[in-house]
Amino acid sequence: MRVLVVEDEPRMAALIRQGLEEDDYAVDEVDNGPEVFDWVESAAYDLIVLDIMLPGIDGLTVCRELRARHHTMPILMLTARDAISDRVAGLDAGADDYLVKPFAIEELTARLRALARREGPSKTTQLQVGDLVLDTATKRARRGDRSIEPLTSKEYILLETLMRHSNQVLARDQIIDHVWNMEFESGSKLIEVYISSLRKKIDAGQDHKLIQTVRGLGYRISADE
Ligand code: CA
Repeated sequence: MRVLVVEDEPRMAALIRQGLEEDDYAVDEVDNGPEVFDWVESAAYDLIVLDIMLPGIDGLTVCRELRARHHTMPILMLTARDAISDRVAGLDAGADDYLVKPFAIEELTARLRALARREGPSKTTQLQVGDLVLDTATKRARRGDRSIEPLTSKEYILLETLMRHSNQVLARDQIIDHVWNMEFESGSKLIEVYISSLRKKIDAGQDHKLIQTVRGLGYRISADE
């Protein structure tokens, strides 16, 4: 999952970024309102964390404008004061949830997981493809009764992305969009490297290979042969 964090206070932005990266999100940061519109056009963000008090254009206006432009990703607003009027204004502007500063980073990540679940087909924390089950809360995967050795952060994000789009072929660019942030170097072989390491953990020794290469198009995870 890829998140855009919109926050102008550098320390707060760094704290959020670190917390989200530890929770296996690909994170980009922007420190003002107007630039948000460029960023959402250039990458497929799964979630946005949006501070209300921002230079340029405030968060409420940014939120309203994103919705007017038909961006439907979940938006979590950060408000400085626990004022009912702020929270109501945020929700009315099209935000899906809000958090009052100061907050515990664990609460932010838990709320983002809840928002992601709301978007997906499953309301549980589990994603399933065939006998492969990935728990998005514990980050652990199993195939049938066999638990899979712990996934690295990037392996986890890649597997989660494939599973959220199961049975669909994802092109390299689509995978990059959801798994890496703007620091990704185009032309690198990182995707191939991570697909290969995921296969070792998920499919090695299994009769039925779930991670499939669709020649010339990309990758897919599917229980179908
Ligand atoms: Ca701010």
